[in-house]
Amino acid sequence: MKYDEVEWEAAACKGINTDLFFLERGEGVSFYPQLRKICQSCPIYSECLEYAVWNETEGFWAATTPNERQRLRSSSRRRDDAA
Ligand code: SF4
Repeated sequence: MKYDEVEWEAAACKGINTDLFFLERGEGVSFYPQLRKICQSCPIYSECLEYAVWNETEGFWAATTPNERQRLRSSSRRRDDAA
């Protein structure tokens, strides 16, 4: 999914200081529970996750950290290889 295919206008994080989503990893950890709640209520969560897993290596997107998205990418590739 490409960036311009996501309906960002509907994002639950719209209007929120997006710097919070891009804090240094250690610094951002304390905000993750709050950010996860926002993402869990987001009407475009699935699209955001699909976009972010394949395109974003930094920041907190769709309730996932960069490491969590890396694991999702790896497991998806393993499934594709096994198919
Ligand atoms: S899932 Fe989270 S990061 Fe993605 S658009 Fe929604 S609120 Fe923003």
